[in-house]
Amino acid sequence: MAAPWRDVVRDAAAVRDAAAVAVDAALLAGVLMRTGEQPHSSDVVNYAPFTLLPSAVPRALFEQAYAVQQDFNLLVDAISQNKEFLEQTLASTIKVDDFTARLFRIYMQVLEEGLAQTVFLGINRSDYMFDCGVDGTTALKQIEINTIAASFGGLTSRTADVHGLVLKVLGKTKEASQLLPNNPSKGLASGIAKAWELYGSQSAVVMFLVEEIQRNIFDQRCVENELWKRNIRVIRRRFRDVFEKGCLDGSRRLYMDGQEVAVVYYREGYVPQTYNQQNWEARLLLERSRAVKCPDIATQLAGTKKVQQELSRPGILEKLLPGHPEAVARVRATFAGLYSLDEGEEGDKIAATAIADPERFVLKPQREGGGNNLYGEELRQVLEKIKDSPERTSYILMDKIKPQPALNYLLRAHSPLQVSECISELGIFGVYVRQGRELVLNEAAGHLLRTKAIEHADGGVAAGVAVLDTPYLV
Ligand code: ADP
Ligand code: MG
Repeated sequence: MAAPWRDVVRDAAAVRDAAAVAVDAALLAGVLMRTGEQPHSSDVVNYAPFTLLPSAVPRALFEQAYAVQQDFNLLVDAISQNKEFLEQTLASTIKVDDFTARLFRIYMQVLEEGLAQTVFLGINRSDYMFDCGVDGTTALKQIEINTIAASFGGLTSRTADVHGLVLKVLGKTKEASQLLPNNPSKGLASGIAKAWELYGSQSAVVMFLVEEIQRNIFDQRCVENELWKRNIRVIRRRFRDVFEKGCLDGSRRLYMDGQEVAVVYYREGYVPQTYNQQNWEARLLLERSRAVKCPDIATQLAGTKKVQQELSRPGILEKLLPGHPEAVARVRATFAGLYSLDEGEEGDKIAATAIADPERFVLKPQREGGGNNLYGEELRQVLEKIKDSPERTSYILMDKIKPQPALNYLLRAHSPLQVSECISELGIFGVYVRQGRELVLNEAAGHLLRTKAIEHADGGVAAGVAVLDTPYLV
């Protein structure tokens, strides 16, 4: 891939000056996070980590990622309405993975009672890397799609200005003018606002379901403030608040502290550690309610790694999106090799292949949030240990994507300024709203580029590995 900053990346004095400008610009622009030491207060904040330089992204692949986003929205929405598919696909997983099993139990319970919810809101982020072939060509390959709590749509809307300024300081005014504007938080908020409007109660609020520790609160505030601009009230509550103070009325309208809730936007709830017995009860209460959940539990299940793997089987996309052959082709073109580890001959064979050649694969459990996947020697050891046990089915295997690294500086508070070999991951935000069976909104809402040093196989921005970036199209 092109290395547009080759002339400045090794110029120590220029880099030092530009980094000082960059950090102050990030603070001014609101690229902020609470600190690890004081995660409960905004008295002390710092800049969220970001790259000094925008990273080169092939224009054709960037456009391809945008072009397929409405198809992915359609697909996730179709999966969320397909009980038979979810049941069959997750049957083996829920036998061995307790977390997925508990989510699935709530899903079934809610269906048995009958859905009170009639308006549906999806906010997702489809993540990709640029796989570099032996012949030097690059291809867009999906890493995963996040159907719950997809973050950084707020902070990333402010990085383009910061990177534009850095480029100017480095004497690259023309290049600075080519950075694309980007505002996912606005798009996410317009989806939430649409769902709120269709819910149809002027006095009802939007509830952000937030974590106990809210270091990334400013990212969420970007979306919140967009809603306040539209005169939609926003409240922030944790699962434990819902357990203590949430209730349903006779028609399953959700109330928090006496206020009716139109939309529940989850920024929490995707890792097992969140849930004690009370929080599971709170989750069930929310799912049973008439409020628009973003996502509903079916859509959360549609985002599991197991579903992702199943989608890559021949014929499955055609079944889920009948009458949409072009969408099917666009979606499929982004798939890397994905393999089931279910018990049986197919699973035995791929397990043996991965043990023999672990560098070719990534081993993924049904977890979100970064830092859970296994690579290389560790992959081999774990797979060796579980290859003859049912535990194997709680994982999937995926071809490892191999992007071309580029030099950049990762700016982090209290860290030395040093050049790193980096790879990037592009995410496209998708938003859709469905009323009954009719899709009334289906859009791509913006992008997020995250970059990390190549020595880290795994992990996102929140996990402290990747940093925010801006694409520079080449
Ligand atoms: P999570 O749900 O934890 O975010 P991901 O599937 O996104 O799980 O994987 C986490 C990280 O691991 C990604 O951001 C990426 O850096 C790396 N990763 C995941 N899958 C692959 C792959 N197939 N090839 C190379 N790196 C991968
Ligand atoms: Mg991820």
